[in-house]
Amino acid sequence: MKRRKPLPPWVKVQARVADDTEAKVRALFARHERGELNRSELVVELAVLLRTSVAVAILLADKYTAMELDKLPGGWVPADDEDADEVILQELHDAYPDEVDEDHRAAVLGALVVVGRAVTLDALQQGRTQALKGQDVRHWRRSPEPGACEVCHDLADGIVSIDQVMWTHRGCGCGQEPVLPTDND
Ligand SMILES: [Zn+2]
Repeated sequence: MKRRKPLPPWVKVQARVADDTEAKVRALFARHERGELNRSELVVELAVLLRTSVAVAILLADKYTAMELDKLPGGWVPADDEDADEVILQELHDAYPDEVDEDHRAAVLGALVVVGRAVTLDALQQGRTQALKGQDVRHWRRSPEPGACEVCHDLADGIVSIDQVMWTHRGCGCGQEPVLPTDND
């Protein structure tokens, strides 16, 4: 039997996916700066990118959780949510308002990166919660992201019930680790 390579920790996977989204946001913005996309085209491209990131994040959380627990994926797929798409679009418009002068370009890019990472991480966390529930995991523990804030660190001790929602702040990269009965008896 082939030994399976150990999975990287879930928080690292989350960080990698968020980094990947950030790189794509930056690449689109670079095209905008070269004049290949105007502002509204950029916003449309970013909205498509983020919608894709959300879908990928949810599938990935499902698959990862199944592999980690040695089970089959639960296959939870969120219902088509037009409101969520609207929220993404609104956030992008807020990050890049209609009239921005040249000196604020860097700030706009920063704001778009924040939106991209936050939307992606949020979907990863939501997908993870659904996947854990789908696999009948009853308890979890918070795994703070590297460089997590003090609040997140303080929250990362103790085992909590699956019904307890993980508190997060915008752009929080903390993850939920399943705690299985055998882990603590
Ligand atoms: Zn956090």
